[in-house]
Amino acid sequence: MRSIGTTGIHHVTAISGDPQRNVDFQAGLLGLRMVKKTVNFDDPETYHLYYGDGAGSPGTIMTFFPWKTAPKGRIGAGQLVTTSFSIPADSLGYWTERLVEGGVRFERPRDRFGETVLTFSDPDGLRVELVAAHDARDGWADGPTSADDSIRGFHHVTLAVEDPERTAQLMTGTLGFRQAEEMEGRTRFVTGEGGPGNIVDLSGAAGFPRGAMGVGTVHHVAFRVPDEEAQLALREEVSARGYDVTPVLDRNYFRSIYFREPGGVLFEIATDPPGFAVDEPPEELGGHLKLPPWLEKRREHLEEALPPLHLPAGTGDRA
Ligand code: ZN
Repeated sequence: MRSIGTTGIHHVTAISGDPQRNVDFQAGLLGLRMVKKTVNFDDPETYHLYYGDGAGSPGTIMTFFPWKTAPKGRIGAGQLVTTSFSIPADSLGYWTERLVEGGVRFERPRDRFGETVLTFSDPDGLRVELVAAHDARDGWADGPTSADDSIRGFHHVTLAVEDPERTAQLMTGTLGFRQAEEMEGRTRFVTGEGGPGNIVDLSGAAGFPRGAMGVGTVHHVAFRVPDEEAQLALREEVSARGYDVTPVLDRNYFRSIYFREPGGVLFEIATDPPGFAVDEPPEELGGHLKLPPWLEKRREHLEEALPPLHLPAGTGDRA
């Protein structure tokens, strides 16, 4: 089977410090729904927290490994440097006020490809943006922000790489992206239907210091494929191009493969199914600590080892 490439952003995973502070910012200030509270399958005494829209749809999922004792990272070349969410075009005033009230300092709003962008950092130093955009997706309707103003999901991500040409070749030649606009050292690529959630910007970082993994940096970005068949076809193509790609791994909510792109950013290819309702009902997403079958026998120990977490007011505290 010929690979169809990828159809958009699936999720972004970052490293944070204190888990409660992470919950307060992502679920509280940004108003994302916690769609899954689980553990890092490779380091089960650490949480893996998933946030997204009401259903945890691919293209909206921001996830964190909160490592309280991890060293602070440095944002730089070879990383996904900025994660940008989309907000409704007329919600800019609402969000400006919300950030001010939340004590979040943001840079002067600026234009990027005809849309207004607000840039700020989360409490761990992770660079986040809100892009006022026309986005047909619904945000979470029952969160702390009103349904009219809520974050819709990802708008785009920005990768800073020393030699953007090689990364661009991978994206257009193998991952199904098309080159779109260009401005101020930034080249935009789109995949699938295009539009918010399906956009990657490449920014040249020649001469900039390399990033260092740690708190406040992105660990990897995952792109979507519709099913396991498409994933296997893409895996074969990536491997044939000489990339060292992992076998298919069961991440419980999706199947994943990983490889490092030429600029140094860790890429994951994740399937849309089965999704977050596979182990708890849609209305209870994020309400319980969920463990994959192979970790259930350690539940008692893990529940004791993990710090308690509380969802902020207005987000339905079931945690
Ligand atoms: Zn991932």
